[in-house]
Amino acid sequence: MTNETWGQVREELIKRVGKNNYVTWIEPLKLSGLKNGVARFEVPTIFFGDWVQRNYADHIRTQLANAGAAVERVEFSVGQAAAESRPAAPKPAAAKPARTRAVADEELPGAPLDPRFTFDSFVVGKPNELAHAAARRVAEGGPVTFNPLFLYGGVGLGKTHLMHAIAHELQSRRPDLRVLYLSAEQFMYRFVQALRERQVMDFKELFRSVDVLMVDDVQFIAGKDSTQEEFFHTFNALVDQNKQIVISADRAPGEIKDLEERIKSRLQCGLVVDLHPTDYELRLGILQQKVDFYRSQYRGLVIAGGVLEFLAHRITTNVRVLEGALTRLFAFASLVGREITLDLTQDCLADILRSSDRKLSIEEIQRKVAEHYNIRLSDMIGPKRLRTIARPRQVAMYLAKQLTPRSLPEIGRRFGGRDHTTIMHGVRKIEELMTTDSQLADDLQLLRRLLQG
Ligand code: ADP
Ligand code: MG
Repeated sequence: MTNETWGQVREELIKRVGKNNYVTWIEPLKLSGLKNGVARFEVPTIFFGDWVQRNYADHIRTQLANAGAAVERVEFSVGQAAAESRPAAPKPAAAKPARTRAVADEELPGAPLDPRFTFDSFVVGKPNELAHAAARRVAEGGPVTFNPLFLYGGVGLGKTHLMHAIAHELQSRRPDLRVLYLSAEQFMYRFVQALRERQVMDFKELFRSVDVLMVDDVQFIAGKDSTQEEFFHTFNALVDQNKQIVISADRAPGEIKDLEERIKSRLQCGLVVDLHPTDYELRLGILQQKVDFYRSQYRGLVIAGGVLEFLAHRITTNVRVLEGALTRLFAFASLVGREITLDLTQDCLADILRSSDRKLSIEEIQRKVAEHYNIRLSDMIGPKRLRTIARPRQVAMYLAKQLTPRSLPEIGRRFGGRDHTTIMHGVRKIEELMTTDSQLADDLQLLRRLLQG
């Protein structure tokens, strides 16, 4: 691609993103190279890069493709000049040199690895500890103990992050291994291309020669018959040679529609682990890690107490949205040069906060809890003090406080007009019991999942 093409693309982008956004975010981009399907741009700051990546990368990629440039991905890194003029700041991760390919050997059609997706940057919590442990095991590069490792979970819960982390780790521990990471879509694309160019034998040889094969988002091949077939053979050939395979999908093997039975059962043969929806602690941990990282770049960053807790509490959809919110907040605060307070957060993120407002009602919580403990819904709001009724009622109070934005008095009203101190007492009681009563802790976890899932 020439700078001229980029010039045309910019014209097109003005129309797509509007003049203001264009001037602020696109114009300052400096095209620094295009290689292996990755278009690179220099940006003035790391905030800027993150922001553009999240908001405009897709537009840019699409327009580049429309202009005939073969671009699979766009990347932004802090320009050399900008980086040097910031004396004390360590080099940001996004400014690392070219991305390492998934494979040292250029013949292998691996997808680029995100340098930020490492084990170091992965925050481990209850919902993902098993997946993390399994990924670590595979990344040791020792003898294959389970095959495949099948990771599944909803969007933005860290599947791709873990897969890239495995690839990075293997590259440094076992540079002798041929590690291939790609998405199922790319697998399909390569296969179709090989068919068209009559190079199916080469394709087969290539895929059968790797030591570790990682295929991301395998649900994409469901229903695509010839690709499924080829995937199945590749898979079997590698398993027979005792080569490690790692697969991810958005759901369990048995639940992927239009996937052949024999493939489902092969996928279930190894270790199947799911990434559970995040919990509050994990979200807070991830936010804290991000903030620490940004702080190391920008000493001036000030965040008022309670802001991270607020975000962890309110944005429960997925980690990508959570990170996006934080990035926007930082970008905004740094542009206007203000401290990040709760007010600023609420203003700046109003749309995200609105859309991730759980529609969960207190009534729903009461109903689920009553069902679970086999008591009547009317007992939730009634006066009975019997332990077998009072305890579930407190569980419902606790969940209402945790899972809805309602205040204690509001919750009190919906529990038959109880005083807010009664609700507070109930919430505290459950918090206390939770730490010693594992049955109760399990109940809570289950209920929370039922309610949020
Ligand atoms: P998935 O592939 O499951 O849809 P990703 O791996 O792409 O999700 O994760 C989405 C974003 O959230 C990425 O930026 C990733 O780094 C981040 N993320 C997810 N889980 C974690 C975690 N446990 N610790 C740190 N970052 C995480
Ligand atoms: Mg993914």
